[in-house]
Amino acid sequence: MTVLSSIEVRRLFDDLRRAPSTAGRYAPHKPLLLLLALARLQHGRTGQFGFVEVEESLRQLLTEFGPSNARNTRHLPYWHLQSDSGGHLWQLHLPAELSQHPRAKAPSLTLLRGAEVTGGLHPDVEQALHSNPALLVEMARLLLDNTFPDSLHEDIASVLGLDLTPPGQFAKEEPPSYDSTARRRRDKAFRDQVLRAYEYRCCVCGFDLRLGHLPVGLEAAHIQWHNVGGPDITTNGLSLCSLHHKLFDLGAFTLAPDSLKVVFSEHALAGSRGLSGELQHHGKDLLRPVVAEALPAPVFLHWNWTNVFKKDARRFA
Ligand SMILES: [Zn+2]
Repeated sequence: MTVLSSIEVRRLFDDLRRAPSTAGRYAPHKPLLLLLALARLQHGRTGQFGFVEVEESLRQLLTEFGPSNARNTRHLPYWHLQSDSGGHLWQLHLPAELSQHPRAKAPSLTLLRGAEVTGGLHPDVEQALHSNPALLVEMARLLLDNTFPDSLHEDIASVLGLDLTPPGQFAKEEPPSYDSTARRRRDKAFRDQVLRAYEYRCCVCGFDLRLGHLPVGLEAAHIQWHNVGGPDITTNGLSLCSLHHKLFDLGAFTLAPDSLKVVFSEHALAGSRGLSGELQHHGKDLLRPVVAEALPAPVFLHWNWTNVFKKDARRFA
């Protein structure tokens, strides 16, 4: 066993982000499986595990936080992760019948369930994270930051049973390399620009409460998520109240790229309030920004429709 430094562990997790196949595409499968493995480890469960042990959790996570139908490919990351980060991040032990199976082609879901395959974090990585709980939390945050908008982090962690509070101070070697100052500055500029364009109101429900002079409960949402290449420009932003921001990032509604009407998913159910509740906004026009140049660009709306919105769409009456 090799003792890995925090820097080496960070590099292995970071290499995953730089893999060319993930550029510009929303690919939550591998990060979610790794987060599942980190959650297990945080609860003291070391060692490899069979695919069936995590299948149900992965299916649930991909259904809630992945693109439509992502759950149907839930077995892929368990197999393909072994080829990432030079094979030093994820390791599989294969039974004889799968030992000659081509690496580039995953076995079927049924085969992976039935075979005596075990997998998990590479033992060196597991050891480094097990002995440094703060590093484990840092890697979990890195995966979340690289894959999902902030509005979903706590929800995902809660489904995973993952505690994102850094335990104590960062261990021995060096402070975290992860500097969020630049990011916060950038986020603030984007927020100001988008909220101003929509005159400080939610473009779905018109929510515009102020406390004194301060607008509250209003957020700037990226239409194409920033962590998958969505730029910080007004035409990729929507001014939304906290509730609509969350519903938008979960794919409960989107905007029709051609008509800019609010479209709710068939998976979003009206509940007891029926059409007087959330669904009253279905089919309504977006509340327009002050200038037409700030209108959402179709390219970003198409991205959101394809990658985030939970299809099928409800029909317009
Ligand atoms: Zn709203």
